[in-house]
Amino acid sequence: MPTQYDVVIVGGSNAGLSAALILGRARRKVLIVDSQQPRNAPAQHAHGFFTQDGTPPDQLRELGKAQLEPYDVDIQYGLVTNISGENLAFSLTLDTGEVINAHKVILATGVQDDTSILPGLSELWGARAYTCPYCHGWEVRDQPLAVITSGQEAYPYASFLTNWSQRLTVCTNSGELDSEARGKLTQQHNLTIIDTPITQLSASKTEASVQFSDTTELTVQGIFVRPPMRLTAASLLTQLGCTLSECGSYVVTDDSGQTTIPGVYAVGDMASPGHAVILAAASGAQAAYMLNHHFVSEQQALSLAS
Ligand SMILES: Cc1cc2nc3c(=O)[nH]c(=O)nc-3n(C[C@H](O)[C@H](O)[C@H](O)COP(=O)(O)OP(=O)(O)OC[C@H]3O[C@@H](n4cnc5c(N)ncnc54)[C@H](O)[C@@H]3O)c2cc1C
Repeated sequence: MPTQYDVVIVGGSNAGLSAALILGRARRKVLIVDSQQPRNAPAQHAHGFFTQDGTPPDQLRELGKAQLEPYDVDIQYGLVTNISGENLAFSLTLDTGEVINAHKVILATGVQDDTSILPGLSELWGARAYTCPYCHGWEVRDQPLAVITSGQEAYPYASFLTNWSQRLTVCTNSGELDSEARGKLTQQHNLTIIDTPITQLSASKTEASVQFSDTTELTVQGIFVRPPMRLTAASLLTQLGCTLSECGSYVVTDDSGQTTIPGVYAVGDMASPGHAVILAAASGAQAAYMLNHHFVSEQQALSLAS
């Protein structure tokens, strides 16, 4: 017989652990299944989390796990590969073949950044190359920076980054940049634009470098870029039939965090266009409160009916 849980949480990072804490304290029997590949793993520090600014991301997660210890929350490391069933009767299959039953499911599987788009980006990711100025802008404030961007996002992204440093070079990597955006960036913001294709990104202990196809090089303290993102557990969402946002980058949920499939909740980066550790933790907690309310009502309705 598969083990029966009240709630299985798929993904045991910021959003999942936060949801588990609330559910554990609500006396729910919870299982977290986690494949241990959180998005901010390459970063040394997680910034902007109230009371925890600058704490290493792994340390935050370890503390989150340790504080689940008093509650009826199990943690299993592995990958959930299949979810089927309906509200109050879900069945989850792990990559080991093990099957687990759950009344409710919380998806907290995050998103992934495609750092393969530029040679060297994966190696620099989180250390010298960043996407979010709220996470990393303070550390490189007023320093020489490169922003690799083009097209529609170029003006809003580059002009926004000048809030942290005006010593910013825009590298289009031969991508498109219309004359209006080009004019505003160079004239209003006094930024330099380099259109030459990028051949390599690299870094030493003290600086980062953008190398171009004409053998020139730009030396900076940090590189900002927004690589494409994808939903980590897209196949689970397809199996369940959850509706995605119009842009396809996050799962649609209602105010309670429930997806369009009753009994399935989605939290953290995968369920929002805004991405931050504290937002992920907050959405995990919010969905857990609401899930428990729904569950109590459903259980009471069932016991009245029987
Ligand atoms: C380089 C970098 C640095 C960042 N720095 C900061 C910062 O300083 N401050 C900040 O607020 N935010 C930062 N962020 C954003 C932050 O990482 C995310 O907002 C946050 O991690 C989202 O948490 P989450 O729980 O939703 O997802 P994640 O942390 O990505 O966790 C998802 C978890 O689900 C697991 N999983 C996925 N699929 C399955 C499956 N099928 N079965 C089982 N488990 C599965 C994964 O292995 C992972 O452990 C940074 C992001 C990046 C890329």
